[in-house]
Amino acid sequence: QDDLVKAVDRIMRHADDKRRLGVRANADTPEDAARARRFGAQGIGLCRTEHMFLGERRQLVEDLVLASSDEERQAALDALEPLQKSDFIGIFQAMQGAPVTIRLIDPPLHEFLPDIVDLSVKVATGAATDKDRKLLTAVKRLHEQNPMLGLRGVRLGLIIPGLFAMQVRAIAQAAAEVPGARPEIMIPLVAAVQELESVREEAVKILADAGVDALIGTMIEVPRAALTAAQIAEAAEFFSFGTNDLTQMAWGFSRDDVEAAFFSRYLDLGIFGVSPFETLDREGVGRLIEIAVREGRQARPDLHLGICGEHGGDPDSVHFCHDVGLDYVSCSPFRIPVARLEAGRAALTETDSDTR
Ligand code: PEP
Ligand code: MG
Repeated sequence: QDDLVKAVDRIMRHADDKRRLGVRANADTPEDAARARRFGAQGIGLCRTEHMFLGERRQLVEDLVLASSDEERQAALDALEPLQKSDFIGIFQAMQGAPVTIRLIDPPLHEFLPDIVDLSVKVATGAATDKDRKLLTAVKRLHEQNPMLGLRGVRLGLIIPGLFAMQVRAIAQAAAEVPGARPEIMIPLVAAVQELESVREEAVKILADAGVDALIGTMIEVPRAALTAAQIAEAAEFFSFGTNDLTQMAWGFSRDDVEAAFFSRYLDLGIFGVSPFETLDREGVGRLIEIAVREGRQARPDLHLGICGEHGGDPDSVHFCHDVGLDYVSCSPFRIPVARLEAGRAALTETDSDTR
């Protein structure tokens, strides 16, 4: 057993020596971050902040949604800020000076609100409180036919004044309290540089006021963002490819519904050999990434490039990321060893064919 462990260690070290791709983790809690470090992650490539608005904090999100004045909205944000700050302190501490890419809140707000049916039943049976009735109105107002293409990501940040600023302030304050913290702030669902510029301007001011340095970058997960990468790179220090959404939008497949609906038939018909949500589709999504890498780097030669969709831990996709010249892949902590190994293999294969 000992020999086996030593052999695996040797192989991992060899892969680490050879690989050009960095390997980071997708981790949202200090526990996940610590696990990721143990698996050899060199940083966090995606810290999704949305779970931080669940549990008891739902109350505060409800207050935010129901706010009927600037003062009420600010009060709800002020209540969330210290909680967010302590979330980020925990993650910076766990990462011990390694970079942490924090993505500002992404999903639609109604995901944090009570279910429309539950609320309707309460109202119909006379069990509803005043707040329930207001929430039902809000849930109806926020209802969308296609929430994944709706009011989420940067759109939410632009529509709700102060929401992203609250998160950036919490990141800045947390970073100021943890020696060596290296925050990177990531804006989700950007499709146009103008969206990014507006958020960036506010974030830069907040960081400067706090005396904190942080890279500001964007997810590339909407095809338009990939196609306008040269413009977007003017306002972003890094890109991280969100290949879950990019696959959804490039194929026009709903990532939530499609697998159950007809994927097995597509596999039978040979339309693809494996789900494009599992292994990166080089011909479509891969082309978008190639365009974004090339044009982004032309506009900003020091642009830092990574991937944080599920594909970041898929062996074949890791080879693609190496070939296209990304700086790192980011994947779930348990897939880190595989990513390290495949990144090493990609570098070794390249050397073999170069010398052939
Ligand atoms: C993505 O879209 O690939 C991504 C990482 O973001 P999420 O899965 O949270 O939408
Ligand atoms: Mg996404």
